[in-house]
Amino acid sequence: MDYFPVFLDLKKRRCLLVGGGDVATRKGRLLVKAGAILRVVAPQISTELRELVQQCQGEMHLREYHGSDVDDCVLAIAATDIDSLNQVISQDAKAKYIPVNVVDSPALCTYITPAIIDRSPLVIAISSGGESPVLARLIRAKLETLIPSSYGKLAQFASRWRERIKHRFADTDQRRRFWEKILQGPAAELVFNGQDAQADTLLSDAIHQEDDSLTRGEVYLVGGGPGDPELLTLRALRLMQQADVVLYDRLVSDGVMELVRRDAERIYVGKRRSEHAMEQENINQLLVDLALQGKRVLRLKGGDPFIFGRGGEEIELLAQHHIPFQVVPGITAASGCAAYAGIPLTHRDYAQSVRFVTGHLQDDSTNLQWPELAEPGQTLVFYMGLVGLAEICAALIAHGRAPDTPVALVEKGTTRDQRVLIADLATMAQTVADNNVHGPTLLIIGEVVKLHASLQWFSPAQNPVDSD
Ligand code: SAH
Repeated sequence: MDYFPVFLDLKKRRCLLVGGGDVATRKGRLLVKAGAILRVVAPQISTELRELVQQCQGEMHLREYHGSDVDDCVLAIAATDIDSLNQVISQDAKAKYIPVNVVDSPALCTYITPAIIDRSPLVIAISSGGESPVLARLIRAKLETLIPSSYGKLAQFASRWRERIKHRFADTDQRRRFWEKILQGPAAELVFNGQDAQADTLLSDAIHQEDDSLTRGEVYLVGGGPGDPELLTLRALRLMQQADVVLYDRLVSDGVMELVRRDAERIYVGKRRSEHAMEQENINQLLVDLALQGKRVLRLKGGDPFIFGRGGEEIELLAQHHIPFQVVPGITAASGCAAYAGIPLTHRDYAQSVRFVTGHLQDDSTNLQWPELAEPGQTLVFYMGLVGLAEICAALIAHGRAPDTPVALVEKGTTRDQRVLIADLATMAQTVADNNVHGPTLLIIGEVVKLHASLQWFSPAQNPVDSD
């Protein structure tokens, strides 16, 4: 290790900043954020840097650098583009044992600055030892997406409770285990969701009554999107990686399942049309049972849990048992398939509204409000419409929608096997019969389908078939 990492407390401490351009301004911004008092020396100083000096009640000297400028400072930064001057500043600071950084000249520095991720009070610093600052910044960008901005709130929450918990658990091991539970359990989820008061109550109950609230499980009802794992939300991914057990069904793609924590127990609960690996009531009960065992249960569903997903039913029973749960929306099949097939669901010229309709009714009929659905100027998206497809098209025509209204059938939308069949109300049933179609499929009906030909982008579909 070439450098020893430290975090400096600069609050109310004077720091010398030589230079008044962009680089100096960036450094000044960070120093002020950390509570430092600036002493800026440069013949010209940017407007923002002047404001920063005012803000921290610092000093500004519009002149060349003098050797005595480093006096009384705890830190020095040389951000000028004159090499000889940078060298002098570095020597002066070193002679007085003041840590000095010369921007972009590691050889002149006694310390270097890392790339940082600021979730104050949580701060992550990444350094390549000055060898490749760009690499450090790339790593930072990766971590930025992985670490939710709400982690700062969690650290603040932890800090508020630190003393009380230290008091409660004298034993350090015990204390560490307690914190591990808090920072990964329901209390943390409450903080992430902005429910600080509830999180406080949970913690204070846990400390005072030694009840089970911290070992209680919870359920995450998560929308896994239509197939492409890149369509997951950051929150979905985070919860998938902390779950102890996952209940998933057929619509959840392999790519998405790969992102679930490796050692999580996996339970397949089926849901193919008429082939239910597990009845809905049993799924609801299983969620409750697992959570009561203290598990963090991930209920992973295709698309969005609240769109034809029976998500509402699954959380009803949880609510009755006072089991903490959260619902994470996902990209529904209509959005995913439409985007990947280049079909905007609404369009100023063609469709002023869009309807998501189920093609599979509870009593196995497709007894819908056909007159309304046949109205022009709207896009219809049928979920679970493959079995009743011929009936759906015929009913729309019978109720007045033009037989040449374009229809798209998207098979396995957003996955690598996506296929798009284009026909119209009069011909789609035959097109499907000719093309050996397998589910899941989505039907998009309306004038917007015309745009598919021109708006099809480079999509993951390997062999899109257009058959009109
Ligand atoms: N909750 C899900 C829908 C569940 S209903 C969501 O929001 O997307 C199941 C139906 O969704 C399937 O019968 C099919 O019509 C549609 N569907 C889901 N994923 C799909 C995909 N990748 N491609 C095409 N249709 C899909």
